[in-house]
Amino acid sequence: MGKISTPDGCNIEIYDCIKVAGSRSAHIGKVISGQVKVNDIVSVSVDVNNRIAASANHTATHLLQKALRIILGSHVEQAGSLVSSERLRFDFTHFAPLSEEEIEKVENIVNEKIFEALPVTINEMPIDEARKKGAMALFGEKYGDYVRVVEIGDYSIELCGGTHLTNTHQVRLFKIISESGISAGVRRIEAITGEAAFTYYKEQDKKIKSISKILKTTPDNIISKIESTMSNIKELSIEIDKMKRAAAGNAAEDILKSAAEISKFKVIVKNAGSMDMNSLRQMGDQIRDKFDGIIVLISDMDEKVNIVATAGKEAVSGGAHCGEIVKAAAAVCGGGGGGKPNSAQAGSKDKSKIDEALKKALEVIKLQLNA
Ligand SMILES: [Zn+2]
Repeated sequence: MGKISTPDGCNIEIYDCIKVAGSRSAHIGKVISGQVKVNDIVSVSVDVNNRIAASANHTATHLLQKALRIILGSHVEQAGSLVSSERLRFDFTHFAPLSEEEIEKVENIVNEKIFEALPVTINEMPIDEARKKGAMALFGEKYGDYVRVVEIGDYSIELCGGTHLTNTHQVRLFKIISESGISAGVRRIEAITGEAAFTYYKEQDKKIKSISKILKTTPDNIISKIESTMSNIKELSIEIDKMKRAAAGNAAEDILKSAAEISKFKVIVKNAGSMDMNSLRQMGDQIRDKFDGIIVLISDMDEKVNIVATAGKEAVSGGAHCGEIVKAAAAVCGGGGGGKPNSAQAGSKDKSKIDEALKKALEVIKLQLNA
């Protein structure tokens, strides 16, 4: 914010300035070099750019408070405020999140007041006079008999001790960057002004140009390009689903051909390859519809082994029990599971044991059917 230095080489970096009793100011800072003594005569300098940026954010805070009252209503009261050279933060009473439209309206009003180049005037006056003029005060704050009043044209009037610009056009540009709730009935707006707002828009512009490049289009056509790309993706995924289903159907046909006969019952015990549990179950159902026997299918995907088994009515009355079959097969691959006599599923992890698990399933089936 600024610097205080003495002739014998003491330098103090100043971070903040606060009001203390008797309308005096206290500087808060850190001694960077030398030693400061009582009765030292010091020279004081302000970091001008920093001061201007912070003042712009403070004047913008006044513009913002009034705009919020115009758009949301007179229930809006300041609940907290933090102004730095980088940004401003304003907390206020309001019951609901602001809509995109409300945020845009507030932003528009503040920018209009900046473009109107309204004078910012500061006067000290008796508190009664300030009240009569309609000055906004902080709820619960104690004021002296004399107060400092900041007026922005005839748009806003507030009691305030802060540093301001002399004209709203010096704020240059205002942009809200976030709106959020901080507690019940209190919202928070963070915003930037001047150079920071300009930099923000430049960054947004750069992002749009990069996105356009990736999408091989121009910034003007970016929205229609994204829309058509999204609808292409949707069509493709429908197509992929169809192909997957057809492939599963073909695989089911192949598997049907491999059925063996054990004690009058048709039996299929097969490695179905790489497939998730859902697809494996669908395949099992497809086969069962065309086949009254016992089906055990094992697949693996993403380090998981999936086992499903189904059995027709006659096979069940002949002794088949799918729950027992998958339980034994899953145990071989280090997993568990079970189910009903006519349908069961299980999951395991060790895919190197799939062949062994298939053998085990066949053994259990033979035992169940007394083969
Ligand atoms: Zn103020």
